[in-house]
Amino acid sequence: MSHGHFATIAARAGIAQDPAHEAVTPPLYLTTTYRLKALGQAGPYDYSRSNNPTRDVLAEALAALEGGAKAIVTNTGMSACLLALQLLTPADTLVIPHDCYGGSYRLFTNLAERKQSFKLVIVNFQQADWAEQIRAARPAMIWLETPSNPLLQITDISAVCHLAKALGAKVVVDNTFLSPVLQQPLALGADLVVHSTTKYINGHSDVVAGALICADQATGDELKWWANCLGITGAAFDAYMTLRGLRTLAPRMQQHQINAECIVAFLQQQPLVSKVYYPGLEDHPGHAIAKAQQQGFGAMLSFDLAVEPGLLQHFLDALHCFTLAQSLGGIESLICHPGSMTHASMSAEAQKTAGIGPTLLRLSVGIEAIEDLLADLAQGFSALARASQATASDDKAADSSAVGDNTALSQSCRLSPALNALW
Ligand SMILES: *Cc1c(COP(=O)(O)O)cnc(C)c1O
Repeated sequence: MSHGHFATIAARAGIAQDPAHEAVTPPLYLTTTYRLKALGQAGPYDYSRSNNPTRDVLAEALAALEGGAKAIVTNTGMSACLLALQLLTPADTLVIPHDCYGGSYRLFTNLAERKQSFKLVIVNFQQADWAEQIRAARPAMIWLETPSNPLLQITDISAVCHLAKALGAKVVVDNTFLSPVLQQPLALGADLVVHSTTKYINGHSDVVAGALICADQATGDELKWWANCLGITGAAFDAYMTLRGLRTLAPRMQQHQINAECIVAFLQQQPLVSKVYYPGLEDHPGHAIAKAQQQGFGAMLSFDLAVEPGLLQHFLDALHCFTLAQSLGGIESLICHPGSMTHASMSAEAQKTAGIGPTLLRLSVGIEAIEDLLADLAQGFSALARASQATASDDKAADSSAVGDNTALSQSCRLSPALNALW
């Protein structure tokens, strides 16, 4: 499917289908309950926990975008994950990647250890023997998250699905980081896709919600039954907001990516950046697989700074277009320090093993004007350079002037002629 088709599905979802008033935009049905015409004559809707017309429009759009038979809209991304786990019994084994989303990791490990809901095997899919590890685990379900957070590591979805088929295991892919516009796991052989629609799908950082998309109808029906039973279906208002955000998903992803690629090029020229993590870079270990299975490299990236961790605040203080905050996928640019924020629950040792260093920063690149984003980062690097020079010469006065004077610093920033042309 071309990007254009995604844009059409998203823009036209539920448009001009209102039987009551010919409304062009699908209405928001906040009603909790629905009138029966007479005893025994219930309509298609009876109670909004089970079914809601607004939520159904969103679910149908998401199923179409991911190429699935059925989508279930849930109240959070975590509840979409919880819903997928309803397919497991205590006799089953779930394989998860060592670097999956922290909230998912907490859910999997606590359900396995404290509730014995299933057996759990944690696999590092970046290791050469991942397939042997999976064969030995004899899983009923394999969980994938690619690109991973925060190091953007790539897993070969087709290869894992191929092995899973041979073993009779289901594959679930958390597709939050790319959205269906940039990756369609069901087409690569996966059985289920989960989303935190909180991120790119809604895209405006104003709804927490999720979705689960099933390749086959029977699994979709079973999990829809569970979603109603557990009471984790999404609110109508949230579905309305998410549908509104979804309509611009394709052009947003395009702009997010254009900006991300410019920022990657800029970061690579910075002497204070020791490493950039972005699957679009040819020397990224997952580049070839990302190129084959994705329709773009996305707009999440991380980088390591070659400075003392104590100096990070100088960089962050100089930024005005990048907000220091968790989460991702909104139209606004965010910066995050995984070590103390998203991945703070990992021990220092575990962080080190996972490659999450103390000066690692993660960007969720927004859709602001690229000139402003680059100018902002340039200001950050100038402030950082001043601060690190000041520390080196132990010159306290220079240090304090470096933090406040952004105008002079931005003029002294280093940019390639190509990027300078963008200013
Ligand atoms: C945010 C996130 C989740 C959890 O979603 P919520 O909407 O916060 O419940 C799951 N997976 C990934 C990859 C995420 O980024």
